[in-house]
Amino acid sequence: TLTLVWFRSDLRVHDNTALAEAARRGPVIGVFLRCLTTWQEHGHGANKLDFWRRGVEALSHDLDGVGIPLLHRDIERFDAAPETLLALARELGADALAFNREYPLDETRRDARVTAAFEAAGLKVRAHDDAVAFAPGELLTGKGDPYSVFTPFARAWHRAITPERLALREPPAPQARPARAPDPVPTLPPLTDTPVAAELWPAGEAAAADRLERFLRFRGRHYAEQRDLPAVRGTSELSPYLALGMISHRQCLQAAMAENGGALADGDAGLQAWVGELIWREFYQHVAAGFPRVCRHRAFQAHTEALPWRDDEAGFRAWCKGRTGYPIVDAAMRQLVATGWMHNRLRMVTAMFLSKHLLIDWRRGEAFFLRHLVDGEFAANNGGWQWAASTGTDAAPYFRIFNPTTQSRRFDPDGRFLAEWLPELAELPAKARHAPGRDLLGGADYPAPIVEHRAARARALDAFKGLGA
Ligand code: FAD
Repeated sequence: TLTLVWFRSDLRVHDNTALAEAARRGPVIGVFLRCLTTWQEHGHGANKLDFWRRGVEALSHDLDGVGIPLLHRDIERFDAAPETLLALARELGADALAFNREYPLDETRRDARVTAAFEAAGLKVRAHDDAVAFAPGELLTGKGDPYSVFTPFARAWHRAITPERLALREPPAPQARPARAPDPVPTLPPLTDTPVAAELWPAGEAAAADRLERFLRFRGRHYAEQRDLPAVRGTSELSPYLALGMISHRQCLQAAMAENGGALADGDAGLQAWVGELIWREFYQHVAAGFPRVCRHRAFQAHTEALPWRDDEAGFRAWCKGRTGYPIVDAAMRQLVATGWMHNRLRMVTAMFLSKHLLIDWRRGEAFFLRHLVDGEFAANNGGWQWAASTGTDAAPYFRIFNPTTQSRRFDPDGRFLAEWLPELAELPAKARHAPGRDLLGGADYPAPIVEHRAARARALDAFKGLGA
């Protein structure tokens, strides 16, 4: 009984539920479907697509090490998945298909169509919940609804978690090599943007494991104090690896527990806080599955659909280019474009600046982030944007609008992050970098603020009050 294992955003050999279960039953052949058109329609840009491609190459190499060939099919769109997989299963003589579930709407529908096609052909489908400790639907409020507020979700998660749920899955034992060679992983066609240097984000599970180990060894215990300081590498920078499954949440949680004397919810404050972030990741997966309207470009809070978003092309462009005249916003946007990643504190600051100070539709910012993020992931990105725009689950209350300059002074007190990303301000005294006046700038090519904080704040408050919120 040969099983075809379909890899998607679970690009690893270790601790992979679908692969472990299939390999326990018998021989396995892997397949990866490249759906470039659909992924681009979903908004993924060159950084993520390139990282994805390199991740598939690393997976193919690692699978080959245990005798499992990874086949590759270019199908452009999800629509072609059922016929392509069915044809392949027949050609190989496979009697089952296995995969780990993905939870956003289009992916769920794709999988339902694939499942129907296989079942109609008399073949088995084994779908596994692997990317989260609790599948959407497993943790519900007292009323039986999916959680829409993080804190009670996290409490329920901690109450219900068991060692079995977090146990690492068996890696597949080396199998007799089938008479099938792995397919080469094709290069990407030319894309609108050029991906950032591959060295910034080496792909594959070995690279991910190395990052996890270094984070926990050197930074995990300082996470609570350092996680909000963009000038310090205080966070794990594992998000691209978690988004494509080059590492699993179980591997992360097991390693954090090992470092923390076996504890998840107590012990070292830094490690506890980090565990909390992994639960945020899971929370937004549950939101995407439980409230599919968010997958259809809708606000979670329907009444906020009436917000009078401004049509401000110049403002949007200034934000994208890091030319708003607010150094912390500009430095962050330049970090995003140059590296494919942005510090979490600054994702909140820049997202709030676009949606509140500029009153530009958060969906435009969501799309710009996705185009550049190497960790671009629908559930976390949409959740983060709707939080910042106060349209989402557990959103920031609309009247709490970050003052970017205050955030800058607080989280980059020495102006180090600003100097790194805004060379035109690097020569200024550190304290002056947060809000450089014309007098200090001299001839430096740095714009004056495109909006004034207090006026912009008042405009945003009016817009929200106009909703009767
Ligand atoms: P760490 O601090 O080391 O956290 C560990 C892991 O926990 C992360 O790798 C990530 O998987 C998860 N995590 C941490 N914070 C969050 C969060 N707030 N929501 C969900 N998961 C979280 N994260 C993405 O993975 N992809 C995105 O596309 C994305 N877009 C975002 C957009 C906005 C507007 C905001 C405010 C946040 C977004 N985040 C996104 C969440 C967060 O900013 C990143 O996960 C984090 O900055 C990644 O850095 P790290 O790996 O060093 O995180």
